[in-house]
Amino acid sequence: MTPSPVLSPALPHTLPTDLPTGLWLGGEQVSTAATFPVRDPATGEVLTEVADATPEDGLRALDLAVAAQAEWAATPPRKRADILARAFDAVHDRADDFARIMTLEMGKTLAEARGEVNYGAEFLRWFAEEAVRIGGRTATAPAGTGRIVVTKGPVGPVLAITPWNFPLAMATRKIGPALAAGCPIIVKPASETPLTMLLLGKVFADAGLPKGVLSILPTSHASALTDPLIADARLRKITFTGSTGIGKHHVRASADRLLRTSMELGGNAPFLVFDDADIDAAVEGAVAAKMRNGGEACTAANRFLVQESIAEDFTARLTEAMAAVRVGNGFSEGAQLGPLINAAAREKIERLVADAVDRGARVRTGGERLPGPGYFYPPTVIDRVQRGSAMLAEEVFGPVAPVMTFGDDDEALALANDTEHGLVAFVFSRDLRRAMAVGEEIETGMVGLNRGVVSDPAAPFGGAKQSGIGREGGHHGLLEFLEPKYFAFD
Ligand code: NAP
Repeated sequence: MTPSPVLSPALPHTLPTDLPTGLWLGGEQVSTAATFPVRDPATGEVLTEVADATPEDGLRALDLAVAAQAEWAATPPRKRADILARAFDAVHDRADDFARIMTLEMGKTLAEARGEVNYGAEFLRWFAEEAVRIGGRTATAPAGTGRIVVTKGPVGPVLAITPWNFPLAMATRKIGPALAAGCPIIVKPASETPLTMLLLGKVFADAGLPKGVLSILPTSHASALTDPLIADARLRKITFTGSTGIGKHHVRASADRLLRTSMELGGNAPFLVFDDADIDAAVEGAVAAKMRNGGEACTAANRFLVQESIAEDFTARLTEAMAAVRVGNGFSEGAQLGPLINAAAREKIERLVADAVDRGARVRTGGERLPGPGYFYPPTVIDRVQRGSAMLAEEVFGPVAPVMTFGDDDEALALANDTEHGLVAFVFSRDLRRAMAVGEEIETGMVGLNRGVVSDPAAPFGGAKQSGIGREGGHHGLLEFLEPKYFAFD
């Protein structure tokens, strides 16, 4: 099947005129001697230049965070909650601006960007609600010898490092709980997508956040900025979302100081379709699980495992649905899939597809880059994927759906767990008992049962195995920023 041609927008789109492009430090923007360009992945063109933070800027942000720590921790929880709630409202007030910036700097369609504005803002609302429910515990010691009283206080200044794929939500998922817990936070956004965060800095300042509690430091020299911060005894926590390899670097770097770490890392999600599944629902779920954020999501279904008796029916319908997805600049009317983030991302996908085909896989739709100045790649379905193919071990991070088959539930489980990653799995079966039994044996932090999307600000998001340490969202997300203290009383 031939995919539709790349769509173009009727009108050019531009960044908001009040968008800060300096560092966000001490509640205001600060310009720097050096800058670096931010590009539009749909055209390859430079959108703007942003300030390039140096290691000295990082230490200045930490000075500000340390200076703000005591007062912010002592700020009544209701007041912290009110600031988060005002920021939630302000993100919605500027929803069009946030969505436009994300489409420009990341490439996702405007509809996806609007979805992320809602999703990202919800973390601010959720943690505004959590801020006043931090609580603690009292108990009588089992021996009857005294009281156990446990309080929870802020862990201290936090460094957050975020990826480009969800420029708003991956940061609000950290900023929300940090502020709710009473921690100042320094955010280093991805160099591809710093603009969304810079607007958020302004939103928080307008919402009344005290100076120094939130700093935003774009940089083109990531480790030069963050390594000295990680080594600094005043920093108390690092929270990272990104690839497993870089996550390991941060864990190693933080080991000397036994820094509290939260790691939200790469995935390799299996999507299991059993012979008793509702095939229409499974195809709909498959498209959602694969194509959310253009396949550039840690939760993206990376391996479709389908029971042999229904494999051809499912694959034919999935192929039809994927071939109907319209590709284009994220602003164009009807576009459902934007470009990949950069040339390297597209080259990686081409390498993975070529490797699978060399090993005997068959391309059902897509499979070749699309022309144009941006980094477009079509929705692609590949079946007969052989064990040992590189795309079964590596995150595809794009709109490619590899299909394999299995005979029985044991084989399905063995295939699903044949990975070092363990973020999420999707299970489709009409038999809930069977789906739960499989779900319980799957080595992941999250399971979608008969649905292709699991993300919810009120739920604990995170992975097992090499997909990470800790959880974000829900009440668990707040605990990552709190230090329990036990008081022993007679
Ligand atoms: P990445 O290359 O690991 O980068 C993530 C962040 O780390 C960026 O801000 C990057 O800065 C920074 N970074 C890279 N090398 C660094 C170093 N040596 N020291 C300090 N910072 C460094 O990941 P990505 O390509 O942006 O994002 C995609 C990955 O994130 C995928 O693996 C995806 O599965 C994962 N992800 C996981 C979750 C989850 O919740 N589990 C959610 C979303 C994404 P630069 O931009 O300057 O390189």
